[in-house]
Amino acid sequence: MIDVPGIFASNVFNDEKMRVRLTQETYAAFRESIENGAPLSIEVANAVADAMKEWAIEKGCTHYTHWFQPMTGITAEKHDSFISPHADGHVIMEFSGRELIKGEPDASSFPSGGIRATFEARGYTTWDPTSPAFVKDNTLCIPTAFMSYTGDVLDKKTPLLRSMDRINHEAVRILHLLGRTDITRVDATVGPEQEYFLIDKEIYNRRKDLKYTGRTLFGARSPKGQQLDDHYFGAIKQRVKAFMTELDEELWKLGIYAKTEHNEVAPAQHELAPIFTTVNIAADHNQLTMELMKRIARKHGMVCLLHEKPFKGVNGSGKHNNWSLSANTGENLLKPGKKPEENTQFLLFLTAVITAVDDYQDLLRLSVATAGNDHRMGGDEAPPFIISMFLGDDLEEIVEAIINREDDEYESQGKVIMNTGAEALPEIRKDTTDRNRTSPFAFTGNKFEFRALGSALNISCPNIMLNTIVADVLSSFSDELEKASDIETAVRRLIRKHLKKHRRIIFNGDGYTDEWIAEAEQRGLLNLKSTPEALKKYTLKKNLDLFERNHIFNETEVRARQEILLENYIKIIDLEALTMLDMAKKDIFPAVSAFTCKLAETIERKRGVSDDIRVDAEVKLLSKLSDLLASFSEKIDELDSKVGGSIAYRKNIQSHAEYCCNEMLKTMDELRAISDEMEMCTASEYWPYPSYGQLLFSVQ
Ligand code: ADP
Ligand code: MG
Repeated sequence: MIDVPGIFASNVFNDEKMRVRLTQETYAAFRESIENGAPLSIEVANAVADAMKEWAIEKGCTHYTHWFQPMTGITAEKHDSFISPHADGHVIMEFSGRELIKGEPDASSFPSGGIRATFEARGYTTWDPTSPAFVKDNTLCIPTAFMSYTGDVLDKKTPLLRSMDRINHEAVRILHLLGRTDITRVDATVGPEQEYFLIDKEIYNRRKDLKYTGRTLFGARSPKGQQLDDHYFGAIKQRVKAFMTELDEELWKLGIYAKTEHNEVAPAQHELAPIFTTVNIAADHNQLTMELMKRIARKHGMVCLLHEKPFKGVNGSGKHNNWSLSANTGENLLKPGKKPEENTQFLLFLTAVITAVDDYQDLLRLSVATAGNDHRMGGDEAPPFIISMFLGDDLEEIVEAIINREDDEYESQGKVIMNTGAEALPEIRKDTTDRNRTSPFAFTGNKFEFRALGSALNISCPNIMLNTIVADVLSSFSDELEKASDIETAVRRLIRKHLKKHRRIIFNGDGYTDEWIAEAEQRGLLNLKSTPEALKKYTLKKNLDLFERNHIFNETEVRARQEILLENYIKIIDLEALTMLDMAKKDIFPAVSAFTCKLAETIERKRGVSDDIRVDAEVKLLSKLSDLLASFSEKIDELDSKVGGSIAYRKNIQSHAEYCCNEMLKTMDELRAISDEMEMCTASEYWPYPSYGQLLFSVQ
């Protein structure tokens, strides 16, 4: 039995450990700086560093690292040891406040989108004291933000922290206007539900595509897929269970609230949901969770796939981002309460989210845009990539009632009275709001669930957007309300005005249908089908203005980000195309050729025995496969020339990315289709790779 409370956060230098290990004055000074942003003196930093080091050494650490999240999507660390030479040839273990606060990794190989000229290749990391340090692999890891020497942002954490400040500031400001002066701080909270696949390591190792690109580039459907839905919430297999047990234990030691684990719809697919926490900590925790999943799976002879669409024709993996706002009073600002129609404060925040999502559909969409996620959403067999909101019947009814009220009536009543008898509505329950699984942005009782995130994504990006756009709308609301003489009337008027204006974003129906695509277009909603198309919107003037106005990014930083993301997209498609060509030429073509040769031999030998023996089945198959092989070979040439043809686009990164999307991916799909058809009629012993069936049912 694991002593869960005993091990929980044992590898984290959390608040409790600080309190015990620091003097009362130092601890108080430290808390003051975290809670109210007071500058941290070097004396306090030295004391914290020293306490951290002592604790880390007791945990067996010899090194420390500034742990940061560059634009590559993974986390980065550069380890330094604590040792410091001493006069008489001895060493002592040292760690100063300066080393804690600031690091200078040689960061020239991290993507910077042109921000960091090579003569100034250094970047620096600064400590994020709001996310506690932890121990991993005998190393003290200090969560940090990463910037260039000129102060330009090069990572995902800095803008996230800035966006948290914004939402805090604007939420508190508007709450004060409503008379809620008891609230002095508001945090965005997030609980990310993480999906993943587990595949047997031996079988994985025999698939070049999985090893090089994380997804299968070829592979015919398995006779048994997810049609029976018998995997969903089914009994968890022994090997998977052992993996989950170890994962939980390691996550708990890191203070990560791993809570529920279950099978998903697709075979070999699983999900882990943590309990929500403040968004920057949730982001750090999710990065650690993904890292540990991969590592622990290996220990159990499996490989954890975090790719959004490892298998064609089988559900992909997403990450549901549950987002809400929590006040220092413990109150959840998105909790409707028993009478949401009278809950002005709730309605105001709801209206702000609706307004923000409608005005910035493009930013939400592009915040989850990756090559992998395009296969899960937007592409064939995937839901469309239209951002819309689902509110559930109860709330939708309230919103409609507010919109339909005559001005005077609404204002003179002082509250919305529902002619539908909605006054007697029970508290909005989760089960009335969670039915629509097709909505990318759903209200689920007391939070919004943004479901368009891919499983591999760093959750910082969508949350930077969410915090920023909602803060910006709240700010414009406050500007308007501050001018009003009668605040109550002004609030109600503002709510109605914005709900009316933005109701087009609300959609409660089935988001996966063709009718919805047509209707959304009529409503003027965006349907940004691919990553290049979405990323293009990053630099629209309204978006540049938004980031500038909220001090999240300056224009250079936005352009750098856009470039890095496009570049990343291009690299992925290139790598996939090259991998396909390698597999096609070196393995698939020779295999099918050998099998057709075997068929020809068989036909010859059978004919040699007697003319009465039928060979038409072999002849038919031989003819079919030979035709397919000929088209396959032509497609290989076509893809080869498309890969070469991309040189023409090197000067313009946007059109290069579009070329990858519209030209290369198309030919890749065609090449795959031929291969998959050949796989269906080639003897297993000839096929060079494990089949979908073997992959998906590899862990027993
Ligand atoms: P389930 O979907 O299993 O019924 P919930 O819907 O309660 O459970 O929670 C799903 C995820 O949403 C969990 O990660 C949970 O921690 C998170 N969550 C719940 N409340 C909030 C909140 N106020 N803010 C952010 N995330 C939340
Ligand atoms: Mg959920």
